[in-house]
Amino acid sequence: MSHAKQVNSSVLRIMPSVDELLRAQKAEGFRAAVGLQRLTSLARSITSELRTELQQGLAAAQNEAEYTREALLDEALRRLGERCQNDQTAEFGRVINATGVILHTNLGRAPLSEPARTALAQAGGYCTLEHDIVTGERGRRGGRVEDLLVELTGAEAALVVNNCAAAALLILSVMAGGGETLVSRGELVEIGGDFRVPEVMATSGTRMVEIGTTNRTKLDDYRRAVNERTRLIMRVHPSNYRIVGFTATPTLRELSELAKELGLPLYEDAGSGVLSDLSAYGLADEPVIRESLRDGAAVVSFSGDKLLGACQAGLIVGRSDIVNRLRKHPLYRALRVDKLSLAVLEKTLEAYRHQRSVTEIPVLKMLSLTRAQLTQRAQSLLERYRQASLNDGSTAELVFEIRDAESAIGGGAGPNTHPDTSVIALSREPFTANEIAATLRCCYPPIICRVSDGKVMIDLRTVAEEEEAELLAGLLTLVK
Ligand SMILES: *Cc1c(COP(=O)(O)O)cnc(C)c1O
Repeated sequence: MSHAKQVNSSVLRIMPSVDELLRAQKAEGFRAAVGLQRLTSLARSITSELRTELQQGLAAAQNEAEYTREALLDEALRRLGERCQNDQTAEFGRVINATGVILHTNLGRAPLSEPARTALAQAGGYCTLEHDIVTGERGRRGGRVEDLLVELTGAEAALVVNNCAAAALLILSVMAGGGETLVSRGELVEIGGDFRVPEVMATSGTRMVEIGTTNRTKLDDYRRAVNERTRLIMRVHPSNYRIVGFTATPTLRELSELAKELGLPLYEDAGSGVLSDLSAYGLADEPVIRESLRDGAAVVSFSGDKLLGACQAGLIVGRSDIVNRLRKHPLYRALRVDKLSLAVLEKTLEAYRHQRSVTEIPVLKMLSLTRAQLTQRAQSLLERYRQASLNDGSTAELVFEIRDAESAIGGGAGPNTHPDTSVIALSREPFTANEIAATLRCCYPPIICRVSDGKVMIDLRTVAEEEEAELLAGLLTLVK
């Protein structure tokens, strides 16, 4: 017999089959976790992987007795367990955001208010999406959210789509498709990695005409670029970046006066935008939507899950002739939001109507926390940690220090705003900060922290008080 044949027959003799793996007692738990179909497919890929390794191993082995059937079965089950666990940690799940970045895009941007969460759960069943309870006839989808937006911004009409990128696409397609749109070179921004103004323009079928220079654009630059193909003037809020130094750009009011004189509509993509002035919290340069409309923008779009504090959505407000054209366009049908988002938006906007926004909407609540309040919460958390670790009788030592630091807004809003905060800087010999952060990510729910200056930083600004007990439990696992 040739060596290759020997190897193959030895493999067949000792290699566990897919069936054997699935029947193993250990696999019962895995099956409950991921389901039979997924488990079978994982078992297939593991046996084929092992077969290849085994063939190579046997071909090189001095002594075939190193390989036993039991050892192989154990190894296959170990790998199966590992894959099943990876599968589960990849599941959608809640996390504790201890980074101090309020609108953390990777962690889902704005956390929702309690009334919004309740409404979200209820909208999961049958609901009044397009049903009028009084007449028993078909109702207006999203009607209440539109009415609230009109009330809160002073607009003539409102419309809701999937996100602000969708809003820009719809507005540009409907108002300027086949024609030209003027936009300042200083506003050709990229936001969140994929929203790029020139690309959205190209997709919508409008020709982008760049006005002025990166740092300076004047009213006359716009005037000179207008011709019979011009359909729209667009103003984009630079959101996540700022040009400083020798700069100039017309105000929205100046631009709208020019637009009026030329008979063109002015569209402002406000990005985050806010419904009420947040300059008390250091956010002076986010457009207040009501003011943009008052200053003459014909239509304005902004995000639902940035400083507004609701879910992903693109909110459009403006002149009713424009909003009606948007609503009738087939693209709107493709971009409209679902019942879950409408339920969340309605409850969030109601908080603004009743002047409860700062006490009810988490994003605004977090924004309003002072350093003194956060220092106090950090001290109290550390005190509870000391008590709990004494009771646990753990001997390992976490080293803590409360330090002044800065939180961040995130989500492409307020890049120059860094709210004063107080962080818990944490270390534990002999582990590195990255190792500690990785351990905290393995807690349930995972705790996400910043690492800087060789320490793990816990910023309680973005941790709800109800989550502190879970955070504490996570810290205790570090000394177990
Ligand atoms: C964030 C942002 C967008 C994209 O908003 P999404 O709701 O994330 O799609 C578009 N324009 C501006 C100016 C922004 O700041």
